Amino acid sequence: MHEYDVVVVGGGPAGCMAAKYAAKEGVSTLIIEEDAEIGEPVQCAGLISKRAIEESELKSKSFINCELKGAIIHSHSYEVRIESPSPEKRAFAIGRSVFDKELAKEAQKEGADIILRSKVKKVKKREGEAKLTINTTGGAEIRASVVIGADGVRSAVAKMAGMKVTKNFLNCVQIEGEYEIDEAFAEIFVGKTIAPGFFAWAIPLGAEGIARIGLCIDKRVSPHPNPLLFLKRNLSEHPVIARKYKGSSSNFTAGTIPIPVGASLRRRGSGQTVRIDKEVGIMLVGDAAAQVKPITGGGVYYGMKCGKIVGEIAAKACLMGDMKVLNAYERRWWKEMGKEIAFGLKVHRLRCVISDKDFDTIFHTLSQDDALQLIKRKGDMDYPSVVFREFLKHPRLIKLMAMNILKYLYTK
Ligand SMILES: Cc1cc2nc3c(=O)[nH]c(=O)nc-3n(C[C@H](O)[C@H](O)[C@H](O)COP(=O)(O)OP(=O)(O)OC[C@H]3O[C@@H](n4cnc5c(N)ncnc54)[C@H](O)[C@@H]3O)c2cc1C
Repeated sequence: MHEYDVVVVGGGPAGCMAAKYAAKEGVSTLIIEEDAEIGEPVQCAGLISKRAIEESELKSKSFINCELKGAIIHSHSYEVRIESPSPEKRAFAIGRSVFDKELAKEAQKEGADIILRSKVKKVKKREGEAKLTINTTGGAEIRASVVIGADGVRSAVAKMAGMKVTKNFLNCVQIEGEYEIDEAFAEIFVGKTIAPGFFAWAIPLGAEGIARIGLCIDKRVSPHPNPLLFLKRNLSEHPVIARKYKGSSSNFTAGTIPIPVGASLRRRGSGQTVRIDKEVGIMLVGDAAAQVKPITGGGVYYGMKCGKIVGEIAAKACLMGDMKVLNAYERRWWKEMGKEIAFGLKVHRLRCVISDKDFDTIFHTLSQDDALQLIKRKGDMDYPSVVFREFLKHPRLIKLMAMNILKYLYTK
């Protein structure tokens, strides 16, 4: 029987950061990871901001595949090219396998232990005991005061604790393949036949002419639930993707992205990421807590940011012997990114109901010089609501929203 103050379930970016920050405060910390290797298998396009790289606190930059100059967004009839105005606003394509391994090493350097090939099956508080008992597939029984569920989008910890934070899931697929890359621009493709309810992407990985090509769909508005069908069609028929894609394919991946419950459900008790039972507590972080940007599906930056908060607070609660300290987590992370997530949910809902013609109207509006200047000034991939709020004041977009208001209101 092993005993720790804090046990983190899952060794992704959120879990590694949580463990690093808990161990840093001086409490005994363990990461339990079900896979044989941290960072594998990869289920990510690996597009993150410079800010996210700084947030990782990693000195080695061996995980960077490519620095991107900007993005080109394609609707059915328009193309908007957005160049990053400064190096500070650049995005990077990264290799998640190396990135996650580096994060895990940093957690270990601070004193956290890691067990691999161990799937957490049960987290339970036994009557009269002042610790949680964690059972794994390896047969190990581990005890802890605080368990942090950083076990991703299908979090078993959240299920066991009865915590409902996710309303819906996006289904995603991706391959790596040869792709014509003129410059290091990420490409985004929107449209109901391309990626219903979300978007498709091609992200260059450097000079070798390889890109990550993928998409997500929202099943609720898709004529077909399998995203692979759309990927195959895009690769063979999309006027831009099919022309640039050269036919090879490797590193196929499929995964899901959580869409969090909305603010009104949170107020009614769903969406809470902390449970306290006398002397013990369970907390959720990262995808397990649905801490993702609903507009882009990105979760690495929020996961690391919330990982720091959750780790620090879990350690404080253990050091003070007072689990009520854990309640601060919910307030702190929501203060940092709650408004962004709540606004992002509205944009996602609007995206699900508008037509391809509406997308054309939006991208035609965005291709105007003043709109492009606004994107350059205020565009921020980690906090996209800032620029979206400005756009929604544009008369053409107000008209578009007014025309879609009924569909918007009656789409769950
Ligand atoms: C196709 C796709 C593309 C994406 N592209 C991007 C992108 O470009 N940029 C971005 O920021 N985000 C992207 N995301 C989202 C991003 O991958 C996640 O938000 C991020 O990985 C979340 O980190 P995490 O640490 O919360 O969870 P994960 O990285 O999912 O880590 C969870 C870990 O928990 C382990 N685990 C699960 N259950 C158990 C258990 N019972 N016991 C022990 N271990 C367990 C898993 O093996 C895993 O290692 C993408 C997602 C998908 C599906």
